[in-house]
Amino acid sequence: MTYAITQSCCADASCVSVCPVNCIHPTPDEPDFGTTDRLYIDPRACIGCGACADACPVDAVFPVDKLTGELSVHAEINRERFTDVPAEHPWGEPHFPRSLPSHAAAPSVAVVGTGPAAGYAVQSLLRSTDAEITLIDRMTTPGGLINYGVAPDHPSTKQIGRTFATSFKHPRVRMHLGVEVGRHVSHAELTEHHNAVVYAVGAPGHRTPGLPGEDLPGTLAAREFVGWCNGHPDVAADAVDLSAERVVVVGNGNVALDAARLLLSDPDELVGTPIAEHALAALRTSRVREVVLLARRGPEHAAFTPSEWVGIQHRLAGRIVVDGHGGAGEAIAGAEDGPAALLRGLPVEDVDWDWAPAGDRRLVLRFTSAPSEVLGTTQVRAIRVGDGTATRDVETGLVLWSVGSRGVQVPQLPFDEKTGTIPNTGGRVQPGTYVVGWAKRGAAGGIGANRSCASETVDALLDDAAAGRLHRPTKDGKAFTKLLRSRT
Ligand SMILES: Cc1cc2nc3c(=O)[nH]c(=O)nc-3n(C[C@H](O)[C@H](O)[C@H](O)COP(=O)(O)OP(=O)(O)OC[C@H]3O[C@@H](n4cnc5c(N)ncnc54)[C@H](O)[C@@H]3O)c2cc1C
Ligand code: SF4
Ligand code: SF4
Repeated sequence: MTYAITQSCCADASCVSVCPVNCIHPTPDEPDFGTTDRLYIDPRACIGCGACADACPVDAVFPVDKLTGELSVHAEINRERFTDVPAEHPWGEPHFPRSLPSHAAAPSVAVVGTGPAAGYAVQSLLRSTDAEITLIDRMTTPGGLINYGVAPDHPSTKQIGRTFATSFKHPRVRMHLGVEVGRHVSHAELTEHHNAVVYAVGAPGHRTPGLPGEDLPGTLAAREFVGWCNGHPDVAADAVDLSAERVVVVGNGNVALDAARLLLSDPDELVGTPIAEHALAALRTSRVREVVLLARRGPEHAAFTPSEWVGIQHRLAGRIVVDGHGGAGEAIAGAEDGPAALLRGLPVEDVDWDWAPAGDRRLVLRFTSAPSEVLGTTQVRAIRVGDGTATRDVETGLVLWSVGSRGVQVPQLPFDEKTGTIPNTGGRVQPGTYVVGWAKRGAAGGIGANRSCASETVDALLDDAAAGRLHRPTKDGKAFTKLLRSRT
């Protein structure tokens, strides 16, 4: 029986190295690895050993005869990926984990953050060195966006947090939660106590389009909405008002799909997921009947990934329509591949924007429409959109911005305002100070992308350790713990 990879794959490639027949692709050495959001198994070569399923941290791999319901499409999705590809998969160059030369002492390393980038960096450091690791996070629960970003109805993706939690409990790791660098402790103090500091602080801010009215009550970042569903302590339980019949989500990437799916799901389907109680209660009494995903460009430029689209299409079967504005129907009908082709078969209609929608809760995809203003005096009433020739007002009581996340400066560290990242070369900010994850690359890529990113950063740290370029701390770990006790 062959195996297939399904939607929750986060492309961390943990399965690639355990496959005895090299049938999982793209591998990290292949050019399309950098752009894929998931991996695929070639059913012609798979021998059904199950090693990949055991290695997968998010339970994304199943024997094809166990694929039922929402997952049933994935056997074909895996098979299709290898159409026109030879069934023989040549092996690439072997890779051996890096390690420190025997003359180099085990370094003490502070890792700031406990999200995926920190998780992979800690795993890599534990594997390659005898480092003593101090782990710090401003939140009182570790996991970063695994807890507060990944949607609660994606529990298998959240499972990766368990893998990291195991590493965080390693005897050489000491974790300090509820400690914010820049507030409770400074970068200079971290370097006084450690040979190296690795920043895995993510991109906690969000972008907005800079429009008049964009801060009116009734506007929120889509990631704040998902954070609210996840019980993020920084988003108040009453921060989301679901009394309007229409919600407009500006953007159509995966986070926009997460928000739309949560708003339109039957709340009973969310019971048993880690959704926050206040969010589930609000969704039960929600008056929302229509969610509009608003995109500046046409369907061929839609930003969602195929796996996420397959998931929402299954959940909202028969409840998704495309607004025909801007030739969207024609663009979809003519598409042979890419995101527009995924929309083939959806009904295309001229949506009446003046009336509240009737009937089942539904999702509307509206393309070629840029927002220019949020209208309202004390609360959002409508959003004005245009295509360069004409504008129209779309009535709504809640606007969710889903136009990207952004890094925030950590005091005493350099910061690139344009990219929202900590400037670095291959993860090295300067010898002794490193960065990994979204703070290094910008806010793009799923959880798995942080694995190779972390290994590059740890390689830079190991190079500096071997060359004697790390900080020479004047105080030890005990002194650091004492310092934190006096500050928190
Ligand atoms: C809403 C949303 C949903 C997503 N869903 C998915 C998904 O389903 N699947 C997927 O593969 N990817 C998903 N992603 C992408 C994924 O979450 C990122 O790739 C990943 O979290 C980036 O990891 P990171 O460690 O760089 O950042 P983060 O996960 O943000 O971790 C950063 C950590 O640093 C801590 N921190 C920040 N500043 C400080 C400071 N000054 N002092 C101490 N601690 C600090 C934070 O508290 C946080 O714990 C999603 C992203 C978002 C925004
Ligand atoms: S079941 Fe075995 S052979 Fe098939 S993809 Fe997984 S590891 Fe490779
Ligand atoms: S999540 Fe990782 S281990 Fe699981 S299938 Fe995807 S690439 Fe393989």
